[in-house]
Amino acid sequence: MATAYAVLLTAYSVWLKHVVILDVLTVAAGFVLRAVAGAAAIGVEISGWLVICTILIALFLALGKRRHEYRTLKGDAAAHRPILAEYSEGFLDQMVAVVTASTVTAYALYTMSPETVAKFHTRLLPVTLPFVLYGIFRYLYLLYRREMGGNPSDLMLNDRALLVNTVLWMIALLVIIYGPQWGPRGSSGGVADVGRWWRRWRAGGATRWGAGAWSDRSTWRCPRTASPGAARLGRAYGDAALPARPGGLVLESTRADRIRSFEPATGRLHCEAGLSLAEILRVFVPRGWFPPVTPGTKFVTVGACVACDVHGKNHHRDGSFGNFVDRVTLRTADGRLVECGPDRERELFLATLGGMGLTGLIVDVTLRLRRVESPWIVLETQGWRASTRCWRACG
Ligand SMILES: Cc1cc2nc3c(=O)[nH]c(=O)nc-3n(C[C@H](O)[C@H](O)[C@H](O)COP(=O)(O)OP(=O)(O)OC[C@H]3O[C@@H](n4cnc5c(N)ncnc54)[C@H](O)[C@@H]3O)c2cc1C
Repeated sequence: MATAYAVLLTAYSVWLKHVVILDVLTVAAGFVLRAVAGAAAIGVEISGWLVICTILIALFLALGKRRHEYRTLKGDAAAHRPILAEYSEGFLDQMVAVVTASTVTAYALYTMSPETVAKFHTRLLPVTLPFVLYGIFRYLYLLYRREMGGNPSDLMLNDRALLVNTVLWMIALLVIIYGPQWGPRGSSGGVADVGRWWRRWRAGGATRWGAGAWSDRSTWRCPRTASPGAARLGRAYGDAALPARPGGLVLESTRADRIRSFEPATGRLHCEAGLSLAEILRVFVPRGWFPPVTPGTKFVTVGACVACDVHGKNHHRDGSFGNFVDRVTLRTADGRLVECGPDRERELFLATLGGMGLTGLIVDVTLRLRRVESPWIVLETQGWRASTRCWRACG
């Protein structure tokens, strides 16, 4: 990395600083190399998104500096930096506009990307977008209205509004990533969840299908990615997972949603019980796999699919969810972790399928996914002139 940086610097000093466009691109590439080196130094894998954001923000600052020099030095600009003779104010403005829009878009996509959500276990990062927007607009204001921007680092440190905004942005990031565990986390992703968190917060309770006494105060959420705990999204009719007595505790383990392994040869998926079918669809449909049985909503956890032994539209042919479960790890009332399946602890296994959680907490599940050719469904419809003929055919 150090060699690459040295080569880049030498190439810039000798040649690239005299080549229009490549001069600013090289400056930006230098920033990327430094970011990559920093990540390597602390042993962290750098995400593609971070590289894109770094290159765009570096380009933004470099172009701003070029524009500032061009404007303030006027006729002497080329004497100060010969390459400035190749630029015009309009050309620089166009480049700044393109890079500004790309930077904001890249940051927004980065905060929402499944990779980021999975890494930080939060879907709330898009909340920090206003800070980035303000920072960029403030910088443009200083550049265009105040004729500043010659020294980006000085500007960042000496403009109070920019400084306060940067500090608030960092605090927001720290609170979201390391702070109190608000609302649903995990990898099922999407901006919709920000709205869900907001509704949940306003209601002062957990979002779920039915109405009843399930509030955050009576919900115990297992620590992030910890295994034991009842997984639930609260979609069961009749609020089956509500505590029997007022004040009883509800266990929620939607954060225990890791995929432990997947065998592409057989379609066997081993996952934690809090993984939702929505997440399985998101990850596996593009790879040609589908859950063998799906109920009328995808916002259910695998653990609950076992506990309720759910059925789907293929029930007449394939039976219920339990037909595709090979192994369940259960935490029983005496605190033991028991593995059960069709060929092991069979009685317990059969009682657990459709047992509504009464045999213990389902911790993880191994199930068989089904191969699909594409995400498209072939639908055949048949019209009937008289309903009696239809009933006869059905029955
Ligand atoms: C729109 C809609 C359509 C539906 N369509 C169908 C359908 O077609 N077919 C069908 O069969 N069902 C259907 N259902 C019902 C729903 O699919 C099931 O009730 C599902 O199990 C709910 O999942 P959940 O994650 O929300 O579980 P919850 O409602 O939170 O819990 C359901 C039950 O499972 C238990 N449980 C959950 N996780 C665990 C665990 N880890 N360990 C032990 N016990 C656990 C709970 O204690 C509770 O008794 C539908 C529901 C909705 C809202």
